[in-house]
Amino acid sequence: MQTLNHLDLKGKRVLVRVDYNVPVKNGKVEDDTRITASLPTIQKLLDGGASVVLMSHFGRPKNGPEEKYSLKPVAEALETVLKHDVKFIGSLPGSEETLREVQELKPGDVALLENVRFEMGEEKNDAALNDKLAKLGDAFVLDAFGSAHRAHSSVSGVASKLPHAAGGLLESEVVALGKLLENPERPYVVIIGGAKVSDKIKVIKNLLPRVDKLLIGGGMAYTFIKSQGGKIGDSIHEDDQLDLAKRLLSEYGDKIMLPVDVIAADKFAEDANTQVVKSNEIPDGWQGLDIGPDTVSAYAAALQGAKTVFWNGPMGVFEFEPFAGGTNVIAAAVGSLKGQAYTVIGGGDSVSAINKSGKAGEIDHISTGGGASLELLEGKELPGVKAME
Ligand code: AMP
Repeated sequence: MQTLNHLDLKGKRVLVRVDYNVPVKNGKVEDDTRITASLPTIQKLLDGGASVVLMSHFGRPKNGPEEKYSLKPVAEALETVLKHDVKFIGSLPGSEETLREVQELKPGDVALLENVRFEMGEEKNDAALNDKLAKLGDAFVLDAFGSAHRAHSSVSGVASKLPHAAGGLLESEVVALGKLLENPERPYVVIIGGAKVSDKIKVIKNLLPRVDKLLIGGGMAYTFIKSQGGKIGDSIHEDDQLDLAKRLLSEYGDKIMLPVDVIAADKFAEDANTQVVKSNEIPDGWQGLDIGPDTVSAYAAALQGAKTVFWNGPMGVFEFEPFAGGTNVIAAAVGSLKGQAYTVIGGGDSVSAINKSGKAGEIDHISTGGGASLELLEGKELPGVKAME
């Protein structure tokens, strides 16, 4: 991958694709994590003598400009954290007006374009839009790892038209996640949770031959348990994945760990009645909403001594406090491996669990890209990453 050191910056205008798809409420940015994450790349470009033109998508506008999808509030939040003026350019990113405005920028200036998805060609990787965007910079930097799996104009399309490089954020994600695929230090333990087998099956298949242990939790565990003839009551499961689950267990049974007990609830609700039952003896009318205490102990024990750990997906319905325990203990257990193991966490829910546990600072790498990190771990070539080669 080409990195920032490959680019000539002095006096150049650099177009940077960032990921500013942040939560905004009543015109105010509620969580500026992604904005803060973009600062090192912006600073490096400014220090090198460039002017910086930032572009991002925001939400899913379908029919052109719409006030609620405007990036204007993000420009204000960026100004605050960057401690530097940010010129917000509200016209369509591919328009003549935008081109005129960016041509006025001087070295050291920073501008943010309006939502690039207001351009109908963006998601189609439209050739005409690629040409228009390419006029906005002398060089292009991709720093939006969360969008690197999209072959869109602002990601891979414009890259082919300009000298280009990966920003620091994209580079760090590719390096960190790459270590989970190439020569991981052993023992290598992966924890996968979340609602559905079907969402993560490609990752599971790609990682199984590489790992020493795969710990399965969350709703997806019940498909595996049912495939072994277990009684899962009313627990979430996918009948169309049963054969696949069975095949994986017969091929990799020595690596896969499933819950031995669960916290079962008599309804899908915070105030449900609960009982701890064996994972293959869940009574009718009850559903497993978290891993049970014996499973928590077994999983925590499996993590001890690990040298490489990847975790994606909650162990239960952690949004309900009574069913957050398994996820919280796993977060703490992964955090406690600091200094002993290389630890990586990906996926919004596991990231918020680790943030809540107060152990986020003890994780080697927390991935910012949900879909992109899963696709990379599936072994897919991401269009954005390929475009930076
Ligand atoms: P994912 O986005 O695939 O990581 O799935 C996360 C979602 O899975 C969360 O909203 C959890 O509430 C849900 N989930 C986890 N465990 C269960 C379970 N046992 N039953 C139903 N949903 C679950």
